[in-house]
Amino acid sequence: MAAEGQTLSGSRQSYGAVDQTSYASTKGPFGAVIPDHVTNGEEPSAPPAYAMDDVSGYEGTALGDGGGKHLPPPSNLVTDRGGGHHPPAQTHWNIPSVSEGEAREALIQYAARKCCYSSAPAKEMVFRTLQPFNTYRYRLETFTESRSSEWKTTPYRGEFVDSFLTGPAPLPWDIQVEVPAMFTDSITRVKVPHTSSLKGCHSCHCSGTVRCTKCHGKGKVQCWICDGSGKRMSNDRCTHCNGSGRSRCTSCSGSGHKTCKTCAGRGQLLYYIELQVKWQNNIFEYVADQRSGFPADLFKEVTGQKMFVDEQSMVTPVVNFPDASISQASQNAVVQHHTQFASTSRLLRQRHTIELIPVTKVEYEWQGKLYSYYVYGDENKVYAENYPKKCCCSIM
Ligand SMILES: [Zn+2]
Ligand SMILES: [Zn+2]
Ligand SMILES: [Zn+2]
Repeated sequence: MAAEGQTLSGSRQSYGAVDQTSYASTKGPFGAVIPDHVTNGEEPSAPPAYAMDDVSGYEGTALGDGGGKHLPPPSNLVTDRGGGHHPPAQTHWNIPSVSEGEAREALIQYAARKCCYSSAPAKEMVFRTLQPFNTYRYRLETFTESRSSEWKTTPYRGEFVDSFLTGPAPLPWDIQVEVPAMFTDSITRVKVPHTSSLKGCHSCHCSGTVRCTKCHGKGKVQCWICDGSGKRMSNDRCTHCNGSGRSRCTSCSGSGHKTCKTCAGRGQLLYYIELQVKWQNNIFEYVADQRSGFPADLFKEVTGQKMFVDEQSMVTPVVNFPDASISQASQNAVVQHHTQFASTSRLLRQRHTIELIPVTKVEYEWQGKLYSYYVYGDENKVYAENYPKKCCCSIM
């Protein structure tokens, strides 16, 4: 214990990355060095700038939760454009559409799901036309990995301090992490080896306690029953404070000081660089416009038939697709994603798909009037803006 006291009283400000062996043997709270007096540090402040040393490969890393310092991958890590030229097979672009029976059933189901829609029009309607407006959706997914660093602090609890003395810190992109499932967003955080050091806590000046802000260290506050007068409205003595006008501070239980939150009362902080590795699936989507009057936003809700799927480390744009706008969208998407992500992230994998989304516009007659609706997606969803006889409950 004598060694511990010596080590800690040597400097109150910064311990730097001192010989880790002296810390490795240090155990338990630092009761011996916490002064009995209460410090003047009222609220934890930002740690001083000198606390963070620049670590090679992590220059400019800041403290806190501000999103971290972005660490672009070294250029030799950017994946080469791999794979050959893979235009989709151009076999069956024929257009399926719903039958009258399916269209009627879809509308009946639609009316049934709306609490006050009558199903009568759906059951009684007379079909006029079923017009296909099938369309294609192109989707490019680019799965990226990005890395950033931040200085972190944690109350020091006597654990081994992995400082630069045990070796140089590995470069950000040399740290091995397990890649999660492809095309799924996730984040992992790694303590960068050999970046740890110990510093005295800046919030409590290493004492482990801070002055209570509610009572300013006095342990007592103005009585809230009598507002400090010591008397009740009837001029009787206030029973809560026995007429003193002051009562015990509940925030610090009358002691005038509280355990420092920054160091959890330990007086020392462990500083280290945290590497954040973020995997993100970036999606580009385009739906060919068939000028059917159907609101394109609704396509997000449905799936179509997958006509083409291609997955590579980097895909090449689709060419010669029957709908030229899809080829154009693919070209734009591949360029856009490359421009957007290649310089800041590592592109791990790309996948692009083309789906055929069925859309049928149904025109029908009910009670002498013309109406229309759309059946769309593999789910046979219905979009019926002008469904007749909307409120069956008010008619009844
Ligand atoms: Zn502290
Ligand atoms: Zn009182
Ligand atoms: Zn207090």
